[in-house]
Amino acid sequence: MKPALVDIGVNLGDKAFDKDRDDVVERALETGITTMILTGTTLEESQHTLKLAEQYPDHCFTTAGIHPHYAKDATEQHFTELVDMYESDKVVAVGEAGLDFNRDFSPRPVQEQVFEKQIELAIDKGLPLFCHERDASKHFADIVKAYRDDMSDLVVHCFTANKESLYRYLDLDLHIGITGWVCDERRGFHLHPLLKDIPANRLMLETDCPYLLPRTLKPKPKSRRNEPAFLVEVVNTIAEQTGKSFEQVAAETTATAKAFFRI
Ligand SMILES: [Zn+2]
Repeated sequence: MKPALVDIGVNLGDKAFDKDRDDVVERALETGITTMILTGTTLEESQHTLKLAEQYPDHCFTTAGIHPHYAKDATEQHFTELVDMYESDKVVAVGEAGLDFNRDFSPRPVQEQVFEKQIELAIDKGLPLFCHERDASKHFADIVKAYRDDMSDLVVHCFTANKESLYRYLDLDLHIGITGWVCDERRGFHLHPLLKDIPANRLMLETDCPYLLPRTLKPKPKSRRNEPAFLVEVVNTIAEQTGKSFEQVAAETTATAKAFFRI
């Protein structure tokens, strides 16, 4: 039997998929990726991914929000329009929101402000948060802590940090998103011993495609583009590292994702 996997981080709106989006979704379904959560990174991109989610109604949902890279461009009008979007039952989380002190594409105080604003919207709407954090774990946790009692769930997507950050997040009862970063021998293998520490009801899987093509994938597509079908490579690595079967990892992460996004 094919697994029924959920890819919680799919940038299906990316132009890398413009030429063959239908085929990409078809390949995902054939591989057993039955549910995809599309990522909205700006108001415009969120509107785009909502349209895409409506085009594949049985398999796609989306987040809607403002990524920290674009925090500096956010206006009051953007938030007003996002609030309207949260009424759609295809929009299942606020985000991608958070802090990125690695690239610093927006000034840090602006990132913090826009992140807090989105936490408040999530609380208001009773929605979970899909979050990005790079080199800002302590700041991120401090902000979340102040709101934690009022929030529902929050996932730190594409977790790549160290044990200290992981425990900081687990202590706040947050969810953790794991990508093909764990398949990267150059920079991701430090995550292997940590995988066992993430409780099954806190672990979710994602490709973050078209980025982060799993380096263990064979053969590699010529384009080097990642896509949801390659999520099985992440499942394989997690199964290997935790001593669980592929089927168990699939069943557990799917149950966790469905509960998190309430789908
Ligand atoms: Zn991200």
